[in-house]
Amino acid sequence: MQDVDYLIIGAGAVGLAVADVLVAETDASIAIVDRNEQPGGHWNFAYDFVRLHQPSEFYGVESRRLGAARRDASGWNAGYFEMASGQEVLDYFDHVMRDHLLASGQVRYFPGSDYHGEGRVTSRQTGAKTQLNIRRKTVDATYFGTTIPAHHTPAFGRDDGTHLITPNQISALWAEQPERFASVCIVGAGKTGMDVGVHLIENGLPGDQIAWVMPRDSWLMNRTTLQPGAEFFESTMRAQAVQMQALAEARSAEDLFDRLERAGVMLRLDPSVEPEMYHCAIISEGEIDLLRQIDRVIRRGHVQHISNSGLRMDDGLVEMPENTLYIDCSASAVTRHPQIPIFQDSTITPQIVRTCQPAFSAAMIGLIETLDLSDAEKNELCRPLPLPDTPHDFFSIALSNMMNQYVWSRTPTIKDWMMRSRLDGFSQRIAEVTDPDAPAYAILNTFRQNMPSAIANIQKLMRKQA
Ligand SMILES: Cc1cc2nc3c(=O)[nH]c(=O)nc-3n(C[C@H](O)[C@H](O)[C@H](O)COP(=O)(O)OP(=O)(O)OC[C@H]3O[C@@H](n4cnc5c(N)ncnc54)[C@H](O)[C@@H]3O)c2cc1C
Repeated sequence: MQDVDYLIIGAGAVGLAVADVLVAETDASIAIVDRNEQPGGHWNFAYDFVRLHQPSEFYGVESRRLGAARRDASGWNAGYFEMASGQEVLDYFDHVMRDHLLASGQVRYFPGSDYHGEGRVTSRQTGAKTQLNIRRKTVDATYFGTTIPAHHTPAFGRDDGTHLITPNQISALWAEQPERFASVCIVGAGKTGMDVGVHLIENGLPGDQIAWVMPRDSWLMNRTTLQPGAEFFESTMRAQAVQMQALAEARSAEDLFDRLERAGVMLRLDPSVEPEMYHCAIISEGEIDLLRQIDRVIRRGHVQHISNSGLRMDDGLVEMPENTLYIDCSASAVTRHPQIPIFQDSTITPQIVRTCQPAFSAAMIGLIETLDLSDAEKNELCRPLPLPDTPHDFFSIALSNMMNQYVWSRTPTIKDWMMRSRLDGFSQRIAEVTDPDAPAYAILNTFRQNMPSAIANIQKLMRKQA
């Protein structure tokens, strides 16, 4: 029997972000169990051209910067802050585990091991069993249930002789059989489908040889409005102020997103189609330009079956050239579990507590755990936000986000931590804006002045929808 204060299940971004804050703020002993042999969770199985969707500055654990805050010099992200590749994310988490968490002496790591509950851990390789005595709490850092194309079983069937691969298999296939397929069809229009579309076009596949199954169009956050760094502070804050004003004045979700699109905060692929999806995906205008080269977008619902002559869709048959290569991008990156209390019965279940920011959210939850408060008081400090699915969900996440932000700003320990937090990025800069003649002052005023009407309007629109 080995004694530990905390057991963390999952050595992905969430588990490591919680561990990092517990190590920084306490002397607690921590065991981290993961069935993978390397830290980094789903990044271990990502496609080879994957990158973060947001700047590296906002990702990873609190105490260690990811990347070097460089700005890209070329490509569709030119001029903007770097976004780590999948391999860079994995190297980073390996470094965090070895040189920081394990080096602290507070952490024991059980890689390649299953957790069975009640402190029971089994090594997948040797079968060795370890019994842990958990003195304080278990952190279930698996709740997001991240799924990736490589491990996903598609919901549609297909005939023998049809060709279906995952994004992970693209490079190898092209290397082996460059000329083999008459056309390529991307199945799924989430961020993975977009990544694949950009990758194919960038690698020279003409847009008229690509088809794209898009069950729903998506609203996408414009990456230019989500940049860290002093040089982008005003433009990033202006986007936040625009959002607050739009939330105060919008008459519906459609109206809200129209306003945000006109202000350059939100983007969509086709301005003639009203998107029905919003998943916090982030994109650049350069990527949108590339994706618009894809000629054939199939908006006929979901694929039910792939046959040699084409697709059976929710909405009828769609002919495809014989010998089409289908790329399955239909895995949903996260499982939409219900929000549950984060602190409950000796279990901490990290969820999103700041809009679309899993790493910051996990670090914040780690910090709240270190406060001398009851579970009920801790839960008051971090209401979990739903993962958005439709444009209308923007309202409820904006409201919960504001409520969390409000209680954090009223709790001195949390406020101080946020002022220092690298993952937070903005609290300190905002506090430094004290000159009433500074342009940033007026922007922040617009943001603050619109907040009460935004809250009232959101509540009204949510009641109307209920
Ligand atoms: C392609 C892609 C790009 C993304 N880009 C961004 C981005 O730019 N910014 C951002 O903030 N988010 C991004 N995300 C969101 C992503 O979900 C989070 O960033 C984060 O990586 C999720 O981490 P996690 O720890 O919750 O899950 P995971 O990475 O899935 O880790 C969970 C771990 O738990 C382990 N585990 C589960 N059950 C058990 C068990 N019983 N016993 C032992 N181990 C177990 C698994 O092996 C796994 O390693 C992206 C997601 C994807 C798919």
